[in-house]
Amino acid sequence: MKIEAIGDKVWSLRAWLIIPVTVWITEDEEGLTLIDAGIPSMADGILKFIEQRGVPLKRILLTHGHSDHVGAIPKILAVHPVPVYVHPIEIPFMEGREPYPGRKKAVAFTAPGLIRPLETDGSRLLPVSGLQPYHTPGHSPGHTAFHIPGSGILLAGDMFWSRRGKLRKPMFTANMQQAMESSRLVDELMPTHLEVCHGKPVRNAAGQVEALRASVLPKEDSSHAANHRP
Ligand SMILES: [Zn+2]
Ligand SMILES: [Zn+2]
Repeated sequence: MKIEAIGDKVWSLRAWLIIPVTVWITEDEEGLTLIDAGIPSMADGILKFIEQRGVPLKRILLTHGHSDHVGAIPKILAVHPVPVYVHPIEIPFMEGREPYPGRKKAVAFTAPGLIRPLETDGSRLLPVSGLQPYHTPGHSPGHTAFHIPGSGILLAGDMFWSRRGKLRKPMFTANMQQAMESSRLVDELMPTHLEVCHGKPVRNAAGQVEALRASVLPKEDSSHAANHRP
């Protein structure tokens, strides 16, 4: 597993299983936060990193509930019994109560009742330990990206994947149109360092999303847009 410091007390931990699989760890005065839990074989490397930091793990946040993002949870919780959070909309799908959109069968990726909902104020997700979550549906219904304000870093999960520093449309995505609508978050936040789970970081993501959207979404009609200005 490759461990890299990508910011001030922000690390990426990357393993390879056909494709790269990345998780992230941040540290604040309370302790460590793990963002995503990768595949089962990553558990030992994640646990070793936590032990070496000598700082307690406080929580796990998930971008979404697909199997390649929750794999190390049982082994990590056996050592560090911390809460695990995801967007509330995602929970029935990952617990196997409903099939993910585009899939025929409901499959449980986590034990029922284990995963807790990220807190909201009704419309927005509330910040957690220096991370601001943003609901970015499309790849999965409750997909969430985590921004680290002031750092230029956006942990984008499976909103995209990347190859040779270039953003790609997300893989295995039931609602590509919605995913591309969600990609407008990149225009809003203008991250200088965008991390994806499957691939290396992308430096100039804001300069690339427009072209990606244009390949999926119908062309915006400028006269139509003008008619709807407030
Ligand atoms: Zn996924
Ligand atoms: Zn994935």
